[in-house]
Amino acid sequence: MATLAGSPVQLEIESRLFIGGEFVDAVEGGRIPVLNPHDNSTLAEIAEARQADVDRAVTAARKAFPAWKRTTAAERGRLLLKLADAIEADANYLCQLETLDTGHPIRDTRNLDIPRTAATFRYYGGFADKVDGRVPPVEAGFLNYVTREPVGVVGQIVPWNFPLMFCGWKLGPALATGNTVVLKPAELTPLTTLRLAHLINKAGIPVGVVNIVPGYGHIAGQYLAEHPGVDKVAFTGSTATGRRIVQASAGNLKRVQLELGGKGANIIFEDANVEAAVMGSAFAIFHNQGQACIAGSRLLLHESIHEEFLDRFLKLARSLKIGNPMDPATEMGPLTSLGHRERVLNYIQIAKERGSAILTGGKIIGGPEFEAGCYLEPTVVTAQPADRVCQEEVFGPFVSVTTFQDEAEVVDIANATEYGLGGGLWTRDLQRAHRVAGAIRSGMVWVNTYKRVNPNSPFGGVGQSGYGRDLGAESIADYTYAKSVWINVDAKIPPFYRR
Ligand code: NAD
Repeated sequence: MATLAGSPVQLEIESRLFIGGEFVDAVEGGRIPVLNPHDNSTLAEIAEARQADVDRAVTAARKAFPAWKRTTAAERGRLLLKLADAIEADANYLCQLETLDTGHPIRDTRNLDIPRTAATFRYYGGFADKVDGRVPPVEAGFLNYVTREPVGVVGQIVPWNFPLMFCGWKLGPALATGNTVVLKPAELTPLTTLRLAHLINKAGIPVGVVNIVPGYGHIAGQYLAEHPGVDKVAFTGSTATGRRIVQASAGNLKRVQLELGGKGANIIFEDANVEAAVMGSAFAIFHNQGQACIAGSRLLLHESIHEEFLDRFLKLARSLKIGNPMDPATEMGPLTSLGHRERVLNYIQIAKERGSAILTGGKIIGGPEFEAGCYLEPTVVTAQPADRVCQEEVFGPFVSVTTFQDEAEVVDIANATEYGLGGGLWTRDLQRAHRVAGAIRSGMVWVNTYKRVNPNSPFGGVGQSGYGRDLGAESIADYTYAKSVWINVDAKIPPFYRR
């Protein structure tokens, strides 16, 4: 455990792998530096899991599976509720650590990420003993019942943008339904996940049920996705990596669940409440510096209100309080890494070369407070629907603006990307709200709001945004398989033997 200065309280940072209920060093001894995106200082050097460590973790998860599967659903639920309590009791620590590691402003980690993580474990704690089967009517003399069985050992691979929250989304339904897990956090942001390991022990979740192996994607992640001892891989991350996961899964035909990228259309109709739409649209793209798969990254404005909307929206974008994410007043922090900021800057260059007008932003933020960090101005550009910046995920505080004339045109534009994760519309017309919500090809639609998420509502996409669902009752199906059991109630001898 390292101790971290530089935060209002002294934070102890766990830097080892978590396998079989114990914190252990990596077999090959590699280390991964974890940086603070505010100034790129080193927060910790954590153990790097490679193949031998993933093997150990899968063995621990396999060993734990039979007993965890047999544990009563009520007991599994009770342990998840205890974990939710432990997260809430540790919230002050967790939100600081998450903010230091990701750059996500502390007001958001305190009000959203950490409470939502606890809420998700609580939701699945309550759900565990409500997962039941069914008894389909079949031929006379037979009883058929269908149970939901855990898939087995699940490999879970999560990205760096909401590290702890995604642990809740992945672990909650997996554990509630009796699976055991090997989870690989992103190499950039493993710290709160390792802290969660301590809370998992504290809650009394049995040894080996959850194993955590921070490591690089192309090494530990790839090996986990290929591993013959893993029955399912649940992945959140980029579409390109999602494709590699599908290929890696082919060896043992493991089940795959993918939550991938997005290119959310955010439609502002001419009858929208402009003030609400401006606020909601700013949240849609600038929350977490735009590093959200469900970001509203394509603003589609009806031509009759586009000037009024843009006037207010640009004022708001320019007035965002950008700064050290540990400051409770900060509204936008740094991006999570310099490498990622380069990717976003590259898209700004692509927009310029294509002839987009940069309406605001577009530059790195300099000056003594910012120059060592990963800061970038909130950026708004004009663009055409076929432009690369309207088709590819930028994953930053970068939004394209396109105007439209009517409903049919805007629905076509909204649906004209390979993604289908989330989208939104702002209108006072009830019929149109339902019509357009139905016409948008995506897993989630928000009307007069944006980026609403709740443990009780399914989260996931279609097309290149992936398949399967996190959250909601829907996720239960993704972590179980149906088993059909036939009983010969009348003890009839099957006719085949009668001759
Ligand atoms: P990424 O795909 O590079 O990495 C995600 C995770 O996969 C990391 O843990 C990484 O180490 C691992 N990984 C990388 N290569 C791998 C490989 N070959 N095999 C196995 N694992 C590998 O994505 P990122 O840059 O960390 O995250 C940003 C992306 O995640 C964006 O595209 C975003 O849209 C997407 N995302 C999707 C959702 C969703 O729910 N749909 C949510 C958040 C983020």
